[in-house]
Amino acid sequence: MSAIRHALTTKREDDFAQWYQEVISEAEMAEESGVRGCMVIKPWGYGIWERIQRLMDDRIKAAGVQNCYFPLFIPLSYFAKEAEHVEGFAKEMAVVTHHRLIADGQGGLVPDPEAKLEEPLIVRPTSETVIGAAMARWVQSWRDLPLLTNQWANVVRWEMRTRMFLRTSEFLWQEGHTAHADREDAVEETLRALEMYRDFVETELAMPVITGEKPENERFPGAVATYSIEAMMQDGKALQAGTSHYLGTGFAHAAGIQYQDAEGTQQYCHTTSWGTSTRMVGGMIMTHGDDDGLRVPPAVAPHQIVILPMLRDKPEDEELLAYCEEIRKELAGMSALGERIRVLLDKRPGKATQKRWTWVKKGVPLILEIGGRDAASGQVSMLRRDKLWNDAAKANFVGMPKEDFLALAEAELDNIQSALFVEAKKKRDENITRVSTFAEVAAFFSEDKRYPGWAEVEWARPTGDELEDVVQQLKALKLTIRNTPLDAEPVSGACIFTGKPAVEKIYIARAY
Ligand code: AMP
Repeated sequence: MSAIRHALTTKREDDFAQWYQEVISEAEMAEESGVRGCMVIKPWGYGIWERIQRLMDDRIKAAGVQNCYFPLFIPLSYFAKEAEHVEGFAKEMAVVTHHRLIADGQGGLVPDPEAKLEEPLIVRPTSETVIGAAMARWVQSWRDLPLLTNQWANVVRWEMRTRMFLRTSEFLWQEGHTAHADREDAVEETLRALEMYRDFVETELAMPVITGEKPENERFPGAVATYSIEAMMQDGKALQAGTSHYLGTGFAHAAGIQYQDAEGTQQYCHTTSWGTSTRMVGGMIMTHGDDDGLRVPPAVAPHQIVILPMLRDKPEDEELLAYCEEIRKELAGMSALGERIRVLLDKRPGKATQKRWTWVKKGVPLILEIGGRDAASGQVSMLRRDKLWNDAAKANFVGMPKEDFLALAEAELDNIQSALFVEAKKKRDENITRVSTFAEVAAFFSEDKRYPGWAEVEWARPTGDELEDVVQQLKALKLTIRNTPLDAEPVSGACIFTGKPAVEKIYIARAY
């Protein structure tokens, strides 16, 4: 084992933000593009996103939702029809105004004034308006409902403070859009999508989340109710990892989504929308990464097992490679977590220890190192990435006969998937603290604790100006209300802000 104690130069506890950037660059997930807030996603990062897409898409389709594709450009007038919606997004919209450039006489190019668009086009920040216009065409009668659509796309929101994956100006996502006959059905769909997200991130990303309703001030522009899944990152901050909105009839009125009910009366639809994005990749890094880089849950790992032959540039290499190939083939024919095992035999030249560290940093769940002597004696040496350092000095390479490894590989991947979840959930639960007065909240978050985690408090669900006061008080402490958990027990205390009888529980935290 080499003398390197950790593969990264920055430790999480020293500078979490710097550590995060270092993981992204060392694991070769993404890089800056030269356009602020827009990133180049490299094969390892994109491979993880593709896994997320595949698994999420299966769930979306299983719920009877069909994929469609809508245009990138949306006429400004579509947005203008829903006042709250356009106001909410106005600050971050990218606008196309011309369709041609001409020479400026100084060797450069400028937009041609003759080619000014009659109506500006918005680069979609979200697609309620354009999908709403299509729904208005597609829905005629109650028989057309519910209408369940989803799109996989890129969207643009001109974010001022960006961070790779977590908040970018262009991001990749899925957006579900549905239309229903009544409120009840639409709310049910909103909560179904939320539950799909919870199950997805907890099962596939091994990332525990709390499902709940966002406070009024955090609602999606134009929504009647916004629900979220909230995850706790290793620095104690919250991450909104997905949202589901009940939109009422506002967007249906704006776009004219109407149907004739069984009695022949024209009615407006109730709509929903729900989205998750490449932010989930960032959440996965911040949930599972350690001081040696990323740890990818097997369900979303592009390679779940990497076989590393200790090549010596000698004729014996051939025998070693043949032995490794035999193992690769056997593994590739096996299944874990409901799918064929994804295994790579890394035959590239280079020192085995260096290659090992590149895969450690990338977070491959299982690494098999195999030397000439192992090949001769039918052995392998296995490293479980989730517990790289079993004791202070040694990585946990475990030697065993090849047959033993093949017999336990499937179960081992399952075990890593659940071990990562258990570890993250334990950390999350230990860092949620029950607090009963606002003074305690202030003390809790100003304490000389670097990672205070979340405060769980009770409140009377103030609205309007009263809520605005609360938001400002929290903002002064750099805090936000995350959500009201859906499965909470009834409360009995007083609201920590107003002293009135509390009606529900909320989580307060610093957030990404
Ligand atoms: P929204 O349409 O605002 O509800 O957003 C849906 C989801 O997209 C959010 O819950 C986030 O997970 C994600 N998201 C929003 N803004 C960004 C961004 N700038 N970069 C990456 N993901 C984002």
